[in-house]
Amino acid sequence: MLIPPVAPVGLYGRGGLRDNASVSTRVCENCGISDDELVCVRRVYLVPPSGDTPAPPTVVAEPEVWCFSCVSQYPCEIVDA
Ligand SMILES: [Zn+2]
Repeated sequence: MLIPPVAPVGLYGRGGLRDNASVSTRVCENCGISDDELVCVRRVYLVPPSGDTPAPPTVVAEPEVWCFSCVSQYPCEIVDA
């Protein structure tokens, strides 16, 4: 179900890569689409309950930038800048 991240192409020619770069003119780290309107999120893994014990969702600590399409389709938490 999870889509592997696509390696960003051409970022070095558009301002370079920085650890805390602003979320503009980048690519979605989930589907790899180029989009100016990306959202900083933390991916959430929803683990189906096993038996009678509900499993809490796992939130990935490392933030990612996703496009709106991925934010609306996949479980995640919006990270406020
Ligand atoms: Zn996306």
